[in-house]
Amino acid sequence: MEWLGLQFVTELPQSGQVILDCTHNPLLVLVAYLVACAASFATLDMAERVGHAEDPGSQRVWRWIGATCLAGGIWAMHFIAMLAFQAPLEIHYELATTLFSLVIALLASWLAMHTLSVPQPSLMQYLKTAIVIGLGIAGMHYVGMAAMHSVATAYYQPLLFCLSIVIAIGASFAALWVAGYLREGSGRFHQLLKYTAAVILGAGIISMHFTGMAALHLVVPEGAVPPLSGETNYLQLGLTVALIILLILGSAISAALADKKLQNKEQDLRRVNALLGQLDQARMSLQQVANYDALTNLINRRGFNQIFAEKLSQKTSEGGMLAVMFLDIDHFKRINDSLGHDAGDALLKVIANHIKGSVRSHEDVVARFGGDEFCILISLREREEARNMAQRIMLKMKEPIELAGRRMVMTTSIGISLFPDDGTTCEELLKHADLALYQSKGAGRNGLHFFSANMKTRASLELQLEEELRQALREENGLTLYYQPIFELKTGRVTKLEALIRWQHPVHGLLAPDRFIAIAETNGLIAELDNWVLRRACTDLGELTRHGCNDLKIAWNCSPLNLAREELADEIESALRSAGVAPERLELEVTENALMGNIANTLVLLRQIRALGVSLSIDDFGTGYSSLAYLKRLPLNTLKIDRSFILDIPTATADMEIVQAIIVMAHTLHLQVVTEGVESLEQYEFLERSGCDFIQGYLLSRPVPLDELRPVLEEINQRKHSHAVNPLSLARGTFVPVSLDPSAKSPAPHAGASIVRPIR
Ligand code: C2E
Ligand code: CA
Ligand code: CA
Repeated sequence: MEWLGLQFVTELPQSGQVILDCTHNPLLVLVAYLVACAASFATLDMAERVGHAEDPGSQRVWRWIGATCLAGGIWAMHFIAMLAFQAPLEIHYELATTLFSLVIALLASWLAMHTLSVPQPSLMQYLKTAIVIGLGIAGMHYVGMAAMHSVATAYYQPLLFCLSIVIAIGASFAALWVAGYLREGSGRFHQLLKYTAAVILGAGIISMHFTGMAALHLVVPEGAVPPLSGETNYLQLGLTVALIILLILGSAISAALADKKLQNKEQDLRRVNALLGQLDQARMSLQQVANYDALTNLINRRGFNQIFAEKLSQKTSEGGMLAVMFLDIDHFKRINDSLGHDAGDALLKVIANHIKGSVRSHEDVVARFGGDEFCILISLREREEARNMAQRIMLKMKEPIELAGRRMVMTTSIGISLFPDDGTTCEELLKHADLALYQSKGAGRNGLHFFSANMKTRASLELQLEEELRQALREENGLTLYYQPIFELKTGRVTKLEALIRWQHPVHGLLAPDRFIAIAETNGLIAELDNWVLRRACTDLGELTRHGCNDLKIAWNCSPLNLAREELADEIESALRSAGVAPERLELEVTENALMGNIANTLVLLRQIRALGVSLSIDDFGTGYSSLAYLKRLPLNTLKIDRSFILDIPTATADMEIVQAIIVMAHTLHLQVVTEGVESLEQYEFLERSGCDFIQGYLLSRPVPLDELRPVLEEINQRKHSHAVNPLSLARGTFVPVSLDPSAKSPAPHAGASIVRPIR
């Protein structure tokens, strides 16, 4: 049977014919195998490249390089293997058919590379392509064999022929599958796998060839074998071809390697770029967090300082003026305390917008330094511009704000320092603006102040006072207690005393508490100071008891800051115990705002103090934000109406009505009422008529030191007894307020001691 020029026989002709004894040159066979392995390796490499190529253009290039490598490799292998074929007769190869076999190899290889470009080919796809490629390779082989011309007739054994085709298909399938598998991955193991696969595939390809060769029998008629004409150096030719193809394959592999490295570098570069981008973003958001205030979106102190430093150096070199403006919202804490922190935050946002709306948007810098403290930096030509802007802000601030269902009007205190007049460094200018702000607050708030040199003197005096107060507390030297009688209207006797601290300063003389309580509070000395007062008051009470004042109570003032300390109850108990005084004789005075500040915690502490037997009094009532609901919950005994309600009585009828209402309310809540600051007989009469329980004020006596107290008490109590029927008629005629404390601004007469008020 003849097919495509190939003779297929099951049995060779028996007579008159000679089967030629053909052999193979082992060296060239080995070289052919090596070429097949190299081609396989190159193909796997190219398939990997195709898989990793990022654009269709380079994918196409690698596909073609891969196809050329595979086709060239297989074809060269075939060529070398044919050179290894040694038959005892002269053989010629027809060029056209040989080249045609190369085209077939190229087509099959292109198909292989094409299948490998598909991202994830299915098994069926692999199989179909493997069949086509296998047939292609076999086609190439047998077409190549057909190009062989000699006197002999080529007979093929069908079984081996078929086997060679099956091997070609099998090898193709293996090649495709391994290449597909090896497309992803990297590292040594991957490389080793690729070498192994190349060796096996090479074996597959060469097996196909030699199975095909085994199927071949060259048969010549007897005596027809012509003598071989000269020696043909097949070995040299084979080696040359091998060298050429290996060089080509090597170049392709090197190119693939270089491309891989380049691609890795590009990917690394892209990754680094992406990382740098992320880093940049992180840095920017960090900067945002670091330099901006999250609540108001204004820059914070840090951001402000940066801009300030830049502007300052610019103004220093180019000339020009700058103003630093410190703003503090008046009584902001009350909002936080009474309406909660959320309302406080909402208010801060509105205020921030008010401020932003009042400045020139581009040139001026508005910052929030924390809490209710804002700072503005403005470039200006003259001082008055700063004043105008500050006034604009103050005006804007007075616009009513809706908050938590209430309409409220806020005011602000402002301090201004100017460059270059008030300082040349950021630190100096900020400090001076702060001092000016302090001045504004001290002057009753809702105002603005420019820095002036004497503020600095004042500030350093404060600093010195702080140090001296620390020392006075440490050495228990200079601090002293004055006592002001509290007169009970029902009994007509002084039944309570209020302990009021004084400081006998070596240089400034006798200082009133308003000169140093705030210093103690801001510098962490207040607990120690109040504790000293408590112990001294208890000791003095013990002393008074020994002199017969058995029913006197002492009211003791406690700072709001001290009320936040859990150990306060223990300290009170210990002071009472060591002085041997009954707790019922001590009354704790706490201001209204201190109580309302942190009601939950305060309540626990107050209950502990009440449990000791100590009475509780709410001081300065009417100046804060008390809520009736809270008042009811607090374990109070006494309510002290603030002096400001008494001041204009009897002229201010509204105040009189308020005082009467407070007395009624207090009695409803079972609280006794003390009215402080009573200076005139009219006030006294009005309060008595209104049902007030206790009177305290200069009308009766100013605060006096302990050693001058007893005569004062005796005098007040005695007058009552000598005019038992109507103490008021007594007061009208003969009551002379006893005053030993000349610190008061009241025109009331006083005796003896002098109190110096040098600072203020
Ligand atoms: P406060 O508790 O409201 O004390 C009443 C203040 O009113 C006292 O001033 C007293 O001298 C003054 N005063 C009494 N009657 C009259 C009057 O008829 N007219 C006028 N104009 N004033 C009168 P002082 O002693 O200067 O105390 C001022 C504030 O200092 C006190 O106000 C209290 O809040 C605080 N303070 C006094 N001693 C202490 C203390 O030991 N610890 C603490 N934390 N604060 C104290
Ligand atoms: Ca008080
Ligand atoms: Ca008071």
